[in-house]
Amino acid sequence: MTALIPASGSVQRLRVHVSGIVQGVGFRPFVHGLAGELGIGGFVGNDESGVVIEAEGSAAALDALLAALRDQPPALAVVTGVSATGMPARGETSFAIAASAAAGRRNTLISPDTATCGDCLHELRDPADRRYRHPFISCTNCGPRFTIVTGVPYDRATTTMAGFPMCAVCAVEYADPADRRFHAQPVCCPDCGPTLRFGGPGADPVSAAAGLLREGGVLAVKGLGGYHLAALAADEAAVGALRGRKHREDKPFAVLVADVAGARAIAKVDVEEERELTSHRAPIVLLRRRPDAAVAPSVAPGNRSLGLLLPYTPVHHLLLDALDGAPVVLTSGNVSDEPIAHLDDDAAARLGGIADAFLTHDRPIRTRADDSVLRVVRGRVLPIRRSRGYAPEPLRLGIGADRPVLGCGAELKNTFCVLRGRDAFPSHHIGDLENAETLRAYTDGIAHLCRLLDVEPVVLAHDLHPEYLSTKYALARAEEEPGIELVGVQHHHAHLAACLADNDHPGPVVGIACDGLGYGTDGLLWGCEVMDVGLDDFRRLAHLEPVALPGGATAIRQPWRTAAAWLRAAGVDPEGLPPVAAGGPMWRNVRRLLESAVEVPRTTSAGRLFDAVAAITGVRSVVNYEGQAAIELEQCADPDVADGYAARLDGPLVRGSDLVRAVAADVRSGVDIPVVAARFHNGLADVLAAAAVRAAAGSGRDTVALSGGVFQNLRLLAGLTDRLAAAGLRVLTHSRVSCNDGGISLGQVAVAAARAAAPPTNGTLVG
Ligand SMILES: [Zn+2]
Ligand SMILES: [Zn+2]
Ligand SMILES: [Zn+2]
Repeated sequence: MTALIPASGSVQRLRVHVSGIVQGVGFRPFVHGLAGELGIGGFVGNDESGVVIEAEGSAAALDALLAALRDQPPALAVVTGVSATGMPARGETSFAIAASAAAGRRNTLISPDTATCGDCLHELRDPADRRYRHPFISCTNCGPRFTIVTGVPYDRATTTMAGFPMCAVCAVEYADPADRRFHAQPVCCPDCGPTLRFGGPGADPVSAAAGLLREGGVLAVKGLGGYHLAALAADEAAVGALRGRKHREDKPFAVLVADVAGARAIAKVDVEEERELTSHRAPIVLLRRRPDAAVAPSVAPGNRSLGLLLPYTPVHHLLLDALDGAPVVLTSGNVSDEPIAHLDDDAAARLGGIADAFLTHDRPIRTRADDSVLRVVRGRVLPIRRSRGYAPEPLRLGIGADRPVLGCGAELKNTFCVLRGRDAFPSHHIGDLENAETLRAYTDGIAHLCRLLDVEPVVLAHDLHPEYLSTKYALARAEEEPGIELVGVQHHHAHLAACLADNDHPGPVVGIACDGLGYGTDGLLWGCEVMDVGLDDFRRLAHLEPVALPGGATAIRQPWRTAAAWLRAAGVDPEGLPPVAAGGPMWRNVRRLLESAVEVPRTTSAGRLFDAVAAITGVRSVVNYEGQAAIELEQCADPDVADGYAARLDGPLVRGSDLVRAVAADVRSGVDIPVVAARFHNGLADVLAAAAVRAAAGSGRDTVALSGGVFQNLRLLAGLTDRLAAAGLRVLTHSRVSCNDGGISLGQVAVAAARAAAPPTNGTLVG
């Protein structure tokens, strides 16, 4: 190679600017190394919006430098732009790392929290290393980031490490461009770092905590984004106690395993799943559980899949080492639906009655961040919850906004999203906005992220549901602050716009939203909609036939009520079917309500149709967590059954009642429930595919976007995808944000940006 690079005579100098997540991720040492390899002179430094390089060398060397910056950046870097301008050569042959300008680094991006890297792990286990068994070991390639940042510019003083001045040895590493800890803000050692404590008997905190777990105790562990509750996964008594004290009846717990081999011992792990499991983001990956897995029944009752994750902090590694790799349940430190505890006093108060002891430390957590959750479907990531390890990383949109936009998100599984130029920043998982604590986390999270990004949103995009606290937040701000512009975005338009943004597709396409409940433009609760949809606008072409929701929110917790409504809509005599018994004395009242003239809210929700079928088949008539009935119906469906119930496409109506009639008939004639469940899934996929094909033919579109929480159902997702592909249509699904309501805020900002670029043509919406 070197021989090919012309010698002097053609020496050029470039000023290069790199933007994105390029600070605090080892970018300058990386450029320093490249310059050495390529024989380039000049310097590299940080500026207010990224990394600046002046590089002098041959044209070929400079080309190679630019290509490497774009294509092979360090693992944690996200390069969003590389620009270069020529300048006069100076004859510089050595390359230096310039000191940063002290102030004004407000446009740089904070990287997400990152799992302990291989180098740090090696040192953690090396008795000769000065950080041997140091619970806070980290470097430029790993460790806490977003959860410890308190302000800007990103520096030690603006993190929760501010209270831990570096010792002389750490300071030397921090200042040495050749060191792995060069300018790594959380760097520390046993002499200067935080202290791990165990609130129980025993000298060494880690071995004492491991001892407690071994004896069947429940342990609270302080992690990156909050406290977890832990118990030995194989110990039924311990896991059962944790479940009882946490008031969490059926919702599966995640399990921390030591490594991929540990994961394989209890679940099937394919190549793509292994890639996600071992990624530096360290999400919980939902895997197929092995039938013989040595995991207590209470870990994931009635569930064929199991959420596993690998250790992502030094404390996790030390703890599992002390347990000889025994798998440990690791679940959010909270009681039922409260947000995860992240402040020490609050954790002590709220978790004191659940945990037998605390493994904690004195490095504060600034921002709460729950573990991220995903599954892999046919080699592609399907995010369920995008939070720790991902936020606050931006997604680049195809369309930008002149003015900053805030997407206020939905009510359940809330995230918000900030759009700055073309960069959309979906927040960490906030949770269900139904208590004061979560609402506080929401408003604080918005203020904090806007401060870090140095933006003041002037456009607030919000859901149409007047009762969502996120909608109320938007309306209240618009009232208080002059100049704020509101953009109302229909819930399912937001879902499908999120899918377009996720795929960087400009639209319009045919969209299918299969969802729980979302407020429609006609005031009804929508949830199974076929649309002609672009980023700026949509037209509703077909939807599930509307049925009553007797009891409103109670119907969501008691699927037998929705079953009563669907059976009535389908003209089925319910006598002898499981929902009658499930309803007990309430059954008659609900039927009377449905037959009366009393106004009952009506919905086109696919989620409620799944609920109804789960109740009619006797799979589940009362739920203990959101989506439980649909999840259990999916899991019970026989994978080998290929035929499905026929359902009509009747003008704009998808006749769900045809499916319900067929389900009831098969249940009555004693067909195996797994067969009934499979035929229902297949029939729904058939009729939705037919609706999409008709819509595509009518509009000339060749692409179909799928979004909404019901598409977490893999059987429906895969079945519909196959049918659409067989019809020659391209299918867009989610891979970067969730198809559930966690993705809504991204859709909202995409719609607001598109509308600013092309104001909507009123009158295209149809009920
Ligand atoms: Zn590291
Ligand atoms: Zn130190
Ligand atoms: Zn939704």
